[in-house]
Amino acid sequence: MSCERAIELMIDSLVEPLDKEQLDELHRHVAECESCAAEMADYTKLWRQLETVAIPALTSDALDRLEAAARKEFPAEYAAARREVRTPLRMPWGVLQRLAAAIVSL
Ligand SMILES: [Zn+2]
Repeated sequence: MSCERAIELMIDSLVEPLDKEQLDELHRHVAECESCAAEMADYTKLWRQLETVAIPALTSDALDRLEAAARKEFPAEYAAARREVRTPLRMPWGVLQRLAAAIVSL
């Protein structure tokens, strides 16, 4: 597996669980690849931090406003991401990632 593919799977796994074959493949790569292992640790840490943020408490109105703000702030990424991944938060991944980075750096 290429590092590029490994990163792709890591991102996918944040949105929905990987199937067993993909997961095994990813774990095999990460076990042998130091840079992807570091990347995986970062994603895991980011996700844990995100889980501690009170996202479930957001009302659908707040989510709509957040989405509108994201659409306005990052129009190109928003449009591109909408065609691809939809996260459980109904936010495109690229936008969510930036928001997450902003939250974590607070
Ligand atoms: Zn790698």
